[in-house]
Amino acid sequence: MECDVAVLGGGPGGYTAAIRAAQLGARTVCIEQEPELGGTCLRVGCIPTKAWVQTAHAMHQAGETFAKFGVEVSRPQLNFGQAVEWKNAVVSQMTGGVASLFKANGVEWAKGRGRFTGPNTIAVEGGEDVTFKNAIVATGSFALRPPIDGIDSPRCVDSTGLLAQTQVPRRLVVLGGGIIGCEFASIFQRFGTEVAIVEMLDTLIPQEDADAAKELAKQFGKRGIALHLGKQCNGVEDDGQQLRVHFGDGESVEADLMLVSIGRGPLVEGVGLEEIGVQFDKRAGIATDEHRRTTVANVYAVGDCAGYWQLAHTAFREGEVAAENACGHDATIDDPAVPRPIYTDPEIAGVGLTEAQARERHGDDVAVGMFPWVANARAVMQAETVGWVKSIHETKYGELLGIVMVGPHVTDLIEAGTVAIDAEATVETVADGMAAHPTLSEAIKEAGLVALGRAIHLPNRKRAAAQT
Ligand SMILES: Cc1cc2nc3c(=O)[nH]c(=O)nc-3n(C[C@H](O)[C@H](O)[C@H](O)COP(=O)(O)OP(=O)(O)OC[C@H]3O[C@@H](n4cnc5c(N)ncnc54)[C@H](O)[C@@H]3O)c2cc1C
Repeated sequence: MECDVAVLGGGPGGYTAAIRAAQLGARTVCIEQEPELGGTCLRVGCIPTKAWVQTAHAMHQAGETFAKFGVEVSRPQLNFGQAVEWKNAVVSQMTGGVASLFKANGVEWAKGRGRFTGPNTIAVEGGEDVTFKNAIVATGSFALRPPIDGIDSPRCVDSTGLLAQTQVPRRLVVLGGGIIGCEFASIFQRFGTEVAIVEMLDTLIPQEDADAAKELAKQFGKRGIALHLGKQCNGVEDDGQQLRVHFGDGESVEADLMLVSIGRGPLVEGVGLEEIGVQFDKRAGIATDEHRRTTVANVYAVGDCAGYWQLAHTAFREGEVAAENACGHDATIDDPAVPRPIYTDPEIAGVGLTEAQARERHGDDVAVGMFPWVANARAVMQAETVGWVKSIHETKYGELLGIVMVGPHVTDLIEAGTVAIDAEATVETVADGMAAHPTLSEAIKEAGLVALGRAIHLPNRKRAAAQT
């Protein structure tokens, strides 16, 4: 099979690249080994987890919030079978959607496992060889497993294994308090599971703004999620009935299931990259420039196999850029504002710099404003007042450096901050603009006003600054 652009992998990076290349008139083949397109994100990542986030949210709303609004319902019961069906139906609709987009755009799907066998050839297991002019590698990542005694027990599962459960575990230990671990901890606690998190570092989600991580730990604590922070897991025993997970200095916890979520590594081995001279590192993935070009001129790489973000939306954008370059255009991806959504309850979202990063780069020339949801009318009427919006700017020119949010629907709201930071907006652009009333988005403007010392809906600590 001959083509202009061959894409190895049909996840967010790969399918986006394939569609974009086809839009630009290239004869495009995408090689994907799984029975559905969509990769980790659609099959066993973003989409199924967020379908369960919705079930968890509904449990919480029905159990604790409806009554406040004057809606009487009986005590909610989780029908896990239906929650699984719902998740699977959402996945099937989304993966089927990608297959339809392939048809609509004329992208050919070569089904099977692909491997580079020459500078212009990918051999496809059980199928025809694909010969290409340009190739885009989008093989994704895999869940890492630490070398801990006993962790090979079938009761120690990765995120894919947890999503495949047909029964809710009574007790779940989450190894790793990063994004994936915290999202599952949040979901399963709402499902009625006793949840404990064991995390080696002293904080949950260490890459996020420290105030956001603290707020999450506080809310998880209130919900009864046991946090064992600064504790290293050093052994797991499976007695055939249950697990005993050992950590720290002689501490342990019993569980029926353990989620191992300590991170993901780039999938770069076994795909023939060495044969064609593409340089990669087993931990950091495939090296690329801002055009997403690898060390071989006609081979590009995108997504989890070639980046440190490990997010679907960075893979989407990289896919577009690689496809455009593979089709003779000159596109780059330099330093975009990357939103960081975390679908815990409460949700967290950030974009740009965290407060610590801003202070590290700009020293004392940083101003921060925090606006709590309790002062926002829409959040109050939704009975969702946990958390805040934080605005971070530098004080020389007023450039907005970062927005961090904890609270209701912040994973959607963060887009306003992403656009502002990409546009190099000043804090005044955000604070002096209008936000529809009453909406949650008003909190973004208000956080900017707090940072400028002239908040309207919050008592000002910096009255002197407000008078200038
Ligand atoms: C539980 C979980 C939740 C997540 N939630 C979010 C979220 O909410 N938001 C977010 O932005 N990100 C989320 N992510 C991360 C997101 O899923 C990844 O960043 C994204 O899928 C990366 O896309 P990709 O195209 O690089 O790789 P993948 O999606 O992994 O796709 C790679 C594809 O390549 C195929 N492939 C690999 N090797 C071969 C081969 N040799 N031949 C043929 N096919 C091959 C694989 O089968 C796979 O389909 C989550 C991840 C997990 C695990």
